[in-house]
Amino acid sequence: MNDILKAGSCDVAIIGGGPAGISAAIELKKLGIDRIIVLERECEAGGIPRHCGHPPFGIREYGRILSGPAYAKKIVADSSLLGVEIALRTSVVSVGQGGLLSIICPDGATELRAKRVLLATGTRETPRSARFVSGGRPMGIYNTGALQSMVYLKNTIPFKRPIVVGTEIVSFSALFTCKKAGIQPVAMLEEKSSPTVRWPISLAAKFFAVPLHLDSHITKIIGHDRVTSVRFGNGHGSEKEIECDGVLFTGKFIPESSLARMGHIDIESGTGIPIVDQYGRCSDRTYYVAGNIAHHSAEVAGKCWRTGKTAAGWICKDLAGQLM
Ligand SMILES: Cc1cc2nc3c(=O)[nH]c(=O)nc-3n(C[C@H](O)[C@H](O)[C@H](O)COP(=O)(O)OP(=O)(O)OC[C@H]3O[C@@H](n4cnc5c(N)ncnc54)[C@H](O)[C@@H]3O)c2cc1C
Repeated sequence: MNDILKAGSCDVAIIGGGPAGISAAIELKKLGIDRIIVLERECEAGGIPRHCGHPPFGIREYGRILSGPAYAKKIVADSSLLGVEIALRTSVVSVGQGGLLSIICPDGATELRAKRVLLATGTRETPRSARFVSGGRPMGIYNTGALQSMVYLKNTIPFKRPIVVGTEIVSFSALFTCKKAGIQPVAMLEEKSSPTVRWPISLAAKFFAVPLHLDSHITKIIGHDRVTSVRFGNGHGSEKEIECDGVLFTGKFIPESSLARMGHIDIESGTGIPIVDQYGRCSDRTYYVAGNIAHHSAEVAGKCWRTGKTAAGWICKDLAGQLM
């Protein structure tokens, strides 16, 4: 077990080893806070960029363009040079009053008491289960994040001819991943009358030869073992059916605030974002937020990196008794 976890206490615990959490850890070290730990549930730190096998990452942080995996490796390496400790395969399962964290790590269940805690748990796309789409539960239904980790981390291709649902910036990333993996989407559906991100989606759809259907919402997923087709309507009563072997739901991001939601930390009822003051501090003042957990949509990594750095500054001041 990691030394800090063994000791059971630290100055700052950072939940989430993505760009926001890692940048906070680096900044805290630079500011002289030594007893910090990053708790990351995956087997490697770096967050979402680990499986975004495309550029552009790193422009704000490093002044150059990196692919997601290269960027993830770089931020983790930079943090390790400063002696940041990252506990991997370590999930925080609940947060308690005054910085008491319940943790599951490879050695079992344990508790950690932190003087301050940074919630940097990111965001996730809305899964099919929360989109109220009727039909069965055949294989072949994924979000972009899941597709990317299959393609880039596990070298697996889950479908060949999916339907892509959504036209956010992440949907562009989905098309790019499909192209890379030799997957040819048969259609892209958007509920609204124009793409959410006008450019590059309309261009990308043309470039990747994917027909874009506007004013179209998916009504039913058909298939027994695997997806075989989907039905979609245009809101005026007419329906179409397209043959496909998968459905890729993209975007509609929700902040990953389950720990706050299940615990005692106040969240905005509509968005699920933890409520914070001008210092990014939650209703329990032991807790702070940074990165995509604090955003309504998924912001770029550079912006999350910056919010992690800012949060570290406030935490440092707070530990020194300089915040009201
Ligand atoms: C598909 C996709 C493509 C993108 N492409 C780009 C791009 O090209 N360029 C760009 O700049 N940005 C891109 N982004 C945005 C960028 O990836 C995010 O802005 C950035 O990763 C957010 O950083 P974060 O630290 O807030 O969260 P994340 O990167 O999501 O990291 C959060 C971390 O917290 C961990 N975690 C969560 N809960 C727990 C828990 N209970 N216990 C322990 N660990 C936990 C997670 O495992 C994860 O590692 C993309 C995003 C997506 C989804």
